[in-house]
Amino acid sequence: MDEATAGVSRRVPVEATGDEVYLDYQSAKPVDPRVVVAMLPYFTERFGNPAALHTVGDRATAALEEGRAGVAAFIGAQPEEIVFTSGATESNNLALIGYANRNKQAGNHLIISEVEHISLHNIGKYLEKQGFRVTKVPPDQFGRISPQKIRARITDDTILVSVGWASNEIGTIQPIPAIAEMLHGTGVALHVDGVAAEGMLPMDMAAVPVSLLTLSSNDIYGPPGLGALYIRGRTRLAAVTMGGGQERGLRSGTENLPAIVGMAAAARIAAEEMPGETARLTALRDRLIREVLETIPDSHLNGHPTERLPNNAHFRFDGIEGESLLLSLKDAGIWVSTGSACSSKTLEPSHTLISCGLLHEEAHGSLEFTFGRYSRESDVDRVMEVLPGIVARLRRLSPLYRKV
Ligand code: PMP
Repeated sequence: MDEATAGVSRRVPVEATGDEVYLDYQSAKPVDPRVVVAMLPYFTERFGNPAALHTVGDRATAALEEGRAGVAAFIGAQPEEIVFTSGATESNNLALIGYANRNKQAGNHLIISEVEHISLHNIGKYLEKQGFRVTKVPPDQFGRISPQKIRARITDDTILVSVGWASNEIGTIQPIPAIAEMLHGTGVALHVDGVAAEGMLPMDMAAVPVSLLTLSSNDIYGPPGLGALYIRGRTRLAAVTMGGGQERGLRSGTENLPAIVGMAAAARIAAEEMPGETARLTALRDRLIREVLETIPDSHLNGHPTERLPNNAHFRFDGIEGESLLLSLKDAGIWVSTGSACSSKTLEPSHTLISCGLLHEEAHGSLEFTFGRYSRESDVDRVMEVLPGIVARLRRLSPLYRKV
């Protein structure tokens, strides 16, 4: 860490008192206080527009390029391969729509995995209306997408495959190196949504031939409202946002300098702390999984038993709704999720769980716990104090749960 952030507190910044427990890091993360300190001067004395030709502009350009280099280093990329956006949704739009529009002379077919974030499915629907053909690849029961299933769907018209590095819902990690290897040299580009895996798993563009990689700042404890798209070397895209031509003309709009500085600081911290954090989070996750499955009858783990994100525990409980569980836990001061926060207000069951072969009632009975930088053993203690009793009480009230 540099001088400015060296002495900054690592105090838990989640506003939780006493027994309250936040285990929904997949939907939002607090900004690391060290990142806030790194950003602060860029709101005031180090403000500036990188497009300006005077000294303030020159300083802003230097900070922008330093930020770009920091984000590039985090994923083993070159600085000129990074384009800043407003977040992961925009990066996904630029990746798929930008690639499809620029490369349509080569073909009009895209392949998207069934377990992607809703943004990619909706972009797929938009592209279909524009005359592209979109095929979905189903996962196995654990949410894994095999390279063979992708290969079986490739035709002469296929230009791009999109598979996330890991699922933001069930935490299953995809075999991205094997998928990238299978596509390498075929002329089919690989887009990877890296949001759920960011800071959890190494994603090295020097080692894995991914064409386009979506990143988000908040997912590594950087400020919200900033994302990036990695665009490998000669991969060509058409712009989706028109304007003043910033970011190589691919993403117009004055760059968000404080956030870019923050994302680079967050990336540096994430890279430094990843090995220790991975071990610590895996231990918390495994303890929760073990204790839930041992203590609560008719409980099941969703997603892959071993190929899963270190911070993700995703369960289903027979005979009860995840939403009732979530609300009872909320009353007890434990804050978790039923799945993707982005679509949590719809009554539809998760498309990811349905794709893994779960029945609607099983998908509705699911609950997602995601640990993060400020999670502690005492959080697991508190969940285990409360959850078994809540499940038992809801089952007594449930006409769907008949066992005694
Ligand atoms: N991709 C994945 C895997 C996500 O989990 C999310 C939501 N955090 C997004 C994309 C979209 O991110 P945002 O809403 O920040 O644009």
